Amino acid sequence: MPTPEPPPSSTPSAPRTSRRSLARRTLTIASAVAVTAALTLGTGGAPGQSGGNTTASGSAFVAATDAPKVDVPTPAEFFGFAMGTEGKLAEFDRIKAYLSDLATASPEVDYEVVGTTTEGEEFPVVRLGSEANLARLPQILDINARLADPARMTQEAAAAGMSRDDYARDLAKQSVPVYYMEAGIHSTEVMNTQAVVDVVHRFATERSDYTEKVLGSMIVLVVPSQNPDGTNKINNYFNATTGTDFARIYPDLYQKYVGHDNNRDWFMFTQAESKIRLGLEQKYRPVVQHYMHGAGTTSPRIWSPPWDEPMSPVLDPLTVSSANAIGQEANRDLIAGGKKGAATDDAYGIMWNADVMGYSTFQGTTTWLTEIASLGPNLWLNYTADSILPPAKATLRAPLAYDSNTWTPAQTVEYAKTAAYSGLETVAGNPQEWLYRNAYQVNANSESYEGGPYAYVVSANQRDPYALYDMMKIFETGKVRIEASTAAFTADGVRYPKGSYVLRTNQPLGRWVDQLLRVDVYPDNARKCSTCPLILPYSETTDNLGLLMGVSVASVEDEFTAPTTAVTQITPAAPVFPTEAQAAAAYVVSPTSYGLGKVITRLEDAGVPMYRASARVPVLGRTLPPGALLVPASADGARAALQAASAETGLPVYGLAAAPQVRGIKLEATTRVGLVRGANNMPGGWLRWMMEQYGVDVQVIEADDYADLAGQFDTVVLAPGISATSITTGLDPARYPEEFHWARGVPDGPAKLKAFVEGGGNLVALGSSSLTAASAMSLPVTNVTPTDRNTFTAPGALLAQTFDTKVPAAWGMPSSWPVWFNNDPAFTVTGDAQVASRYPDQDDLLVSGYARGSEAIGGAANIATFTVGKGQATIAGGHITFRTWPRAAWTVVTNAVYNGAATPVTARQMQEALR
Ligand SMILES: [Zn+2]
Repeated sequence: MPTPEPPPSSTPSAPRTSRRSLARRTLTIASAVAVTAALTLGTGGAPGQSGGNTTASGSAFVAATDAPKVDVPTPAEFFGFAMGTEGKLAEFDRIKAYLSDLATASPEVDYEVVGTTTEGEEFPVVRLGSEANLARLPQILDINARLADPARMTQEAAAAGMSRDDYARDLAKQSVPVYYMEAGIHSTEVMNTQAVVDVVHRFATERSDYTEKVLGSMIVLVVPSQNPDGTNKINNYFNATTGTDFARIYPDLYQKYVGHDNNRDWFMFTQAESKIRLGLEQKYRPVVQHYMHGAGTTSPRIWSPPWDEPMSPVLDPLTVSSANAIGQEANRDLIAGGKKGAATDDAYGIMWNADVMGYSTFQGTTTWLTEIASLGPNLWLNYTADSILPPAKATLRAPLAYDSNTWTPAQTVEYAKTAAYSGLETVAGNPQEWLYRNAYQVNANSESYEGGPYAYVVSANQRDPYALYDMMKIFETGKVRIEASTAAFTADGVRYPKGSYVLRTNQPLGRWVDQLLRVDVYPDNARKCSTCPLILPYSETTDNLGLLMGVSVASVEDEFTAPTTAVTQITPAAPVFPTEAQAAAAYVVSPTSYGLGKVITRLEDAGVPMYRASARVPVLGRTLPPGALLVPASADGARAALQAASAETGLPVYGLAAAPQVRGIKLEATTRVGLVRGANNMPGGWLRWMMEQYGVDVQVIEADDYADLAGQFDTVVLAPGISATSITTGLDPARYPEEFHWARGVPDGPAKLKAFVEGGGNLVALGSSSLTAASAMSLPVTNVTPTDRNTFTAPGALLAQTFDTKVPAAWGMPSSWPVWFNNDPAFTVTGDAQVASRYPDQDDLLVSGYARGSEAIGGAANIATFTVGKGQATIAGGHITFRTWPRAAWTVVTNAVYNGAATPVTARQMQEALR
């Protein structure tokens, strides 16, 4: 098999006809003249060569006498430097212009803007393929979608009088697979976006057996940056700081909200870029997705699969083994091409949904990564270490060791291209087999999937109707086949009401349903040998949607029948709303939904006064738990605002004809929230996103704001990850330009926070920042989470929790529901406090995921509120807002943010207000 750098081509260089108009071609005449001149003078590289930075093999791509297929500038000519030139990063606006020019010039390149990023930028993709295949793209996508639909294949095969397998095999021959190549999701891993510029140029211009074979056998979908906002920020900042004393890496989140966590959003789909990517995956159904990443400077020079243990038991084994195969093939091609230091295995084992496997694995895509060693804090300058960079010695997993202390931008680009070409080569070797296996066979296997229950049943009767809606929207977004019952039915001895959802696992996305709803059990066989230590996950260990979102889900093992109808659109529950007479005194909303946060902000926006009851409220034959939201019926705009909020969330609104006898609190007309998020602190970014989604009146607190916190904010929130140092030291203004000085240190910041609370302010500190708050305010707590990870670890798991729902911070929570825990603080309380939640005192706290030694925090407090001077502080040791996943606990955030800033009212005052 040829290496990804094929031998000189013998393809004749006859002119090619183009389906493009002459007019489009003339657009590039000016640059074409420049290219011709450059080639004549011998100053531009041969096509396929990225300029003077390549290794010797680069010039062997193409016979020197071959003319390029189309006349376009090389990257070196267009950008003024070759991709991989030290100190020079091509910026994304220029990359877009270049790729667009290539598409204009070449009938084998398409350029399309497919969406808009979080910050309003274009999100482009490039399609590569033979002219004939690009012209029949709709037909290709249609056939590939049919192959992936087992029911459709059964029908079509029967009509053709063939076995389904034979029919699918024949059908696959009429199409070609799609191969998806993605760079730049982690925008600091800059080498990959630079490399794909060369990749696209090569296919546009090079006439060789290799390029013709790839272009003729598949559609290549190239995403030059999965995060254009970040590629803009990182590359432009690097170039702008050339020749300055500033640090060279952009110091803040390179995706507005989630930064480097942007590859952890593949089941919640919260960010614009995640939604665009999901849309591409669903439209193109690639057989392979190559995610091009970078790693630390001390990682192998390049890593590719085979993956390490463990493996989620839910995955189709074919997608896993083919990822191992394609990665191993890349390793072989790297070594054949003389690329030293290429390694496999021993990394990236865990394959949960939010991890490397993502969504597309479940529709039959083979996903694989490359991880190329980065260049350290100078980003795009040669990196030199004190010793030979790893892997310095040959091993079975890295048979060709690296041999130098130095690593250069040019090398990172060459390694990236070699691996990219290898993956394409692997699929081009047998494209119809890839299409048959990944599109047809994997999905057909899902139809008979037996690894999960028969179905998951989600009752229409949930304590949080908004959570039900929020969760089912995810399955709708993922295009799962959802059924709703048209009448009550019984499954596994349990009676479910009309409108309950049935998610069967014997459907094409059944494994995805199972992955997201099963209680995760970490595989005990994730070991190198039977007596070897367990291989610990490299990231989190559970993605159980029901538990995260507060929805009760039943796993039903045995087949059952239920009258159902297909659901095409998930909508909020039909709102219950009282007549004006029923609500003569007040409107009431139960506190048991995290959607209450939206109701509160909608009422804030409408200027409607709000109260919350501190005790239970009887309404219409039911009793609402403490924390019910009470709204005076007489308030201007109350009815309309509540109707709108109820329609949006599906939350029922009840009416009270007479004011209740209950004490409580009056919320601020507008609760002004300040968020200490920290520069480049992902938990702060996620929290900001969530608050903005919920309409919270939130401002990021800047260094200057510490001078007058009380004048600007009612509640200050410390995001998880905010340490005392991040407040006092922050970003050094001498090392960063002025636009980042908002994040500079405030030496007396903790004292300012303390003074704010003592003066009557409300402070909320989540996750690790609970320790920052405890220290700043001398809260009476001791962190009891063990630090020895050999005896205690719960690295991203759901642990049992009990709530005292009489404490305002826990209003509306169930008496027991698991919370997120990622080796976070847990407390012994040594003084006065209202403890809102605890880890129960039991042998094993694990509910879903992986934990060991968890009993060590049994009985410890998690969420507690303290009186500090005239104000109060609520802390949660656990990272209860982790990436917005554990949304059931958003109720606690809403409580802490609003209740802590509210004013107490007596039963008499409440009665007056609601009269
Ligand atoms: Zn990465």
